[in-house]
Amino acid sequence: MLHVGINGFGTIGKRVADAVRAQPDMTVAGVAKRSPNFEATIATDRGYDLYAAGDRDPFEDAGIPTAGTVHDLVAASDVVVDATPSGVGAENASLYADHDTPAIFQGGEAADVADVSFNARANYDTAVGVRSVRVVSCNTTGLSRLFAPIEEAYGIEKARVTLVRRGGDPGDSSRGPINDTLPDPVEIPSHHGPDVQTVFPDLDIDTMGMKVPTTQMHTHSVNVTLASEPTSDAVRDLLSRESRLFLIPESLGIDGTGKIKEYTRDAGRSRGDVWENCIWAESVTVQGRDLYLFQAIHQEADVVPENIDAVRALSRRTASAEQSIARTNEALGIGRGLVQHEGTPARVDGLADD
Ligand code: NAD
Repeated sequence: MLHVGINGFGTIGKRVADAVRAQPDMTVAGVAKRSPNFEATIATDRGYDLYAAGDRDPFEDAGIPTAGTVHDLVAASDVVVDATPSGVGAENASLYADHDTPAIFQGGEAADVADVSFNARANYDTAVGVRSVRVVSCNTTGLSRLFAPIEEAYGIEKARVTLVRRGGDPGDSSRGPINDTLPDPVEIPSHHGPDVQTVFPDLDIDTMGMKVPTTQMHTHSVNVTLASEPTSDAVRDLLSRESRLFLIPESLGIDGTGKIKEYTRDAGRSRGDVWENCIWAESVTVQGRDLYLFQAIHQEADVVPENIDAVRALSRRTASAEQSIARTNEALGIGRGLVQHEGTPARVDGLADD
């Protein structure tokens, strides 16, 4: 059983902790937080040992018991997942190195924070046995999962993506109230293209970014010039065989990200999380060698299974990417409860929500 510590218990950290708990081969060693806010009480309510990422006194003053400091947590962990705010992970790197504890960082950190920029579908093997990985950002994760099978099947000559980015997460009150549409960043390419190249070094990709006033999901408008000329149906079939891609059937009447979130809440998923890329099936169109599609990415959720696979890769506990991905998917319930492309019935077995 792998003991996984989670440093930072916010949007990503709390989801990773619940996902670790759901795995048959992992347990949560504890979680560390900086401030004794509502998420600290959630951590203790869920039975996680809570460690102070700074002074313990504010927690004790708030009546929230702590099991020690983050140093104690790192010492007690086989692997640490750092889910602290962007930039703090880099400050924590020496803490993990001092304890010789393998560490997983998030996409808000610069690529050089870790040995490898990681996506389970695209480059699991590069992370096997290294000391640190960076799970790439939600957008880069969504693009990597999409490009890996397309590159393997058809070859990619050039990718162009416009990312319509959510303005903030639902709890990000400091980013609002908002009512605007921004080219963001206004420079081209946006940072997303170079970030995708940390996973696919040879990929020719240009990206443009915008921000819009929604907290639901990101939406990508994707154009890929292929090296070959498949039919639209062939691409749909290829993508529908990928376990972390959900092709939204036209029959569901899901016309936007709001309905995707409503669907997954109705399906009984914890926090309404959408771990899969959501690709509108009817948008998948090939004209000549140009492939077009729209996909939506749930920024709070898609990196969560990738963190789990990164734990297995770092600790060499699973033989292959396929085994780890299948194990993670099964434990979390990825793909369950969703009507699949071509009318495949929804999987109805129980949902693993924590
Ligand atoms: P968050 O602000 O929701 O959570 C961060 C947590 O870390 C909070 O609980 C905070 O109290 C705690 N914290 C702050 N300073 C700390 C410290 N020094 N030590 C320990 N804990 C500390 O942030 P988030 O959205 O979960 O983002 C975490 C990382 O994940 C970032 O790198 C971010 O770029 C990346 N990421 C975020 C999203 C997203 O949409 N939220 C998606 C993908 C990747």
